[in-house]
Amino acid sequence: MKTYRTIKELRAALESARQGGASIGLIPTMGALHEGHASLIRAAVQETGFAVVSVFVNPTQFGPTEDLAAYPRPLEADCRLAESLGAQAVFAPEVGEMYPSGEPAWVEVGGHLTGILCGRSRPDHFRGVTTVVAKLFNIVGPCRAYFGQKDGQQAQVVRRMAAELFMPVEVVIKPLIREADGLALSSRNVYLSSSQRAAALVLFKSLAEAGACLERGEREPQKITALLKARIKAEPLAELDYAEIYSFPELNDPGPEICGPVMIALAARVGSTRLIDNLVWPEKPALDA
Ligand code: AMP
Repeated sequence: MKTYRTIKELRAALESARQGGASIGLIPTMGALHEGHASLIRAAVQETGFAVVSVFVNPTQFGPTEDLAAYPRPLEADCRLAESLGAQAVFAPEVGEMYPSGEPAWVEVGGHLTGILCGRSRPDHFRGVTTVVAKLFNIVGPCRAYFGQKDGQQAQVVRRMAAELFMPVEVVIKPLIREADGLALSSRNVYLSSSQRAAALVLFKSLAEAGACLERGEREPQKITALLKARIKAEPLAELDYAEIYSFPELNDPGPEICGPVMIALAARVGSTRLIDNLVWPEKPALDA
């Protein structure tokens, strides 16, 4: 495995891989890799001939008061992990390599899909995501690109971008990976103190309760979101951002009664750390088990 810092060097390596007949898989990440990212890398290694892990803390998707400077950047450990999983390349560019003029050509998905959930709490966030992902797609030219359901809204936004711009790439979405106790794996979990780590479990626990409610036959979205809000409110270290339910995968308003698959989505601050989590109900059966 090799680490590439420039587009030119990466493209040369990709060209020879393609000449050798390999299909290219891309796993876009911001680094500080964990088992959630590893699940995407494993899938890409299995399903394509040349897996490229991009590691880039993308400044344009952070708001002015967010954690861009503090975001963990353990590049050497990330490269070791990617290599141990069988990836062929890590692409870790500097900001100037990705934004050469400093005045980006924005790529933006408009409308409802980016106006709800994180789109409401983090203005311009998805514009930053789609801009950098479009750049990565143009640089790498993958036939498959891998995203996690952890960022369920982001995955649908990227899918919409690729479809609307006729990008010749399959956007693959893989399941959300959790710690043994249920906490969704996230690079931001390193910010949590041990008491905050314990408090952060309230996200998973309330989602699990909401899932159980649906299992018992509850179909009123408002009743379920009221339960979620009450549970988060009862945890003194957590401050709710949103608790909402949308149809899945379209992310439309479910109306007064849930009558198909839904995504229950939560965002909350624990201390100064903003965490997101979600549950898709009913869980899709694994097709390739
Ligand atoms: P990030 O580095 O946080 O920008 O994430 C890069 C990719 O890894 C995104 O597609 C995320 O959805 C995915 N990812 C992050 N955490 C998890 C997780 N716990 N389970 C599955 N995928 C994840």
